[in-house]
Amino acid sequence: MEKVTSLCKRRGFVYPGSEIYGGLANTWDYGPLGVELKNNLRDYWWKTFVHDRDDIYGIDGGILLHPKVWEASGHVANFSDNLVECKKCHKRYSTDRLETKKCSECGGEFTPEKKFSGLFKTFIGPTEDTASVAYLRPETAQAIFINFKNVVDSFHPKLPFGIAQVGKAFRNEVTAGNFIFRDLEFEQMEIEYFIAPGTDWQKAFSSWQEAMCQWAVSLGVREKALTVREHNEKERSHYSKKTVDLEYEFPFGIKELWGLAYRTDYDLKQHQNASGVNLEYQTEDGQKFIPHVIEPSFGMPRTLLAVLLESYFEDKKRIILKIKPKLAPIKVAVFPLVANKPELVKKARETYKMLRKEFLVVWDERGNIGKRYFSQDEIGTPWCVTIDYQTLEDETVTVRDRDTMKQERLPVDKILPYFQNMLK
Ligand code: ATP
Repeated sequence: MEKVTSLCKRRGFVYPGSEIYGGLANTWDYGPLGVELKNNLRDYWWKTFVHDRDDIYGIDGGILLHPKVWEASGHVANFSDNLVECKKCHKRYSTDRLETKKCSECGGEFTPEKKFSGLFKTFIGPTEDTASVAYLRPETAQAIFINFKNVVDSFHPKLPFGIAQVGKAFRNEVTAGNFIFRDLEFEQMEIEYFIAPGTDWQKAFSSWQEAMCQWAVSLGVREKALTVREHNEKERSHYSKKTVDLEYEFPFGIKELWGLAYRTDYDLKQHQNASGVNLEYQTEDGQKFIPHVIEPSFGMPRTLLAVLLESYFEDKKRIILKIKPKLAPIKVAVFPLVANKPELVKKARETYKMLRKEFLVVWDERGNIGKRYFSQDEIGTPWCVTIDYQTLEDETVTVRDRDTMKQERLPVDKILPYFQNMLK
């Protein structure tokens, strides 16, 4: 974990939030490589669950929604955590996740339990009065429920169908630690999958469970590092009939990676009652009802962390991030063998520009080739292309593979289709 955290900082994946001001607990900023990895993960998620299926519609709802949304959803009343603080070292713990009766840092005693809201409040308008209180969304799901009718009216989808959304969620988390695992703001990738009441929800639930596990494996997560754990009644949210956590073996323990919940018709019913707008779905043969919903919920930071942890390898000479090429921040690095031979640099620039039109490519001419290879291995670049003296004679280049370190000579006009094929 320490190695991954320090690599993230050193090479520009993730930086501590507001670092020059001493940091702000549970906030992180994504650097140039982190944002690429995050974008690739998000695009791959969208492709898998929206573009490659014909039963899911995407939306992008607001971060600020009408405050009544959060009253109707139950968040204003229920979205809270119970907190204790160590009397000695003042470390805070959420009692929902507490495993010991004494502080694990210093063995100190805890203060009595205190309840606090997980919602971030803000104000709309010029005065901070209660009439204009608004909340930053703690989950993306509610924008989906309040747009359910809009999507049905525009697209007339047949049940079962889903609505997907990716975006930031905000939670007033008070327990710190474990890098990006628990943040104040983080992206969620969520689907509400609507089914007719009375249909086999268990079947839909298990097929989503399967799809989530498969997606994790397709990111390069080892199957044996994943477990599915069902919530007991006490743990389950107020709206859910069944919830499972897809857990991952993080270095700091087996913890939730993603969640899957059967939210019944709770949310749509609540919004129908609170708004007075009919949110029933009407079938072709005229039946009307409120659909039930299965919710697969994926969190971006934990996904990114699991991918980095699974990709990190070291040998005597180098650190390698064996990220799947389709997810790697940079696809190819292009090098002129030496920086002081203008013919080589010119040819290498042409190759760089040609590849750059298709995907993210970097240029490096510093130090020796070996160092450049290792520098790319450390950030997960799958291939390096070197332009050397032979290139000037026969138009071939060296393509070096990150994982095998094998080098192959390929005609320069064949490398683009070669990489495109490998990235499929
Ligand atoms: P936990 O029990 O760890 O607090 P949760 O059960 O509250 O998580 P959900 O409400 O199920 O989490 O949220 C869905 C997903 O969003 C989680 O599986 C996780 O990937 C992500 N997530 C939730 N809270 C955070 C957070 N504070 N920081 C980063 N990711 C989060």
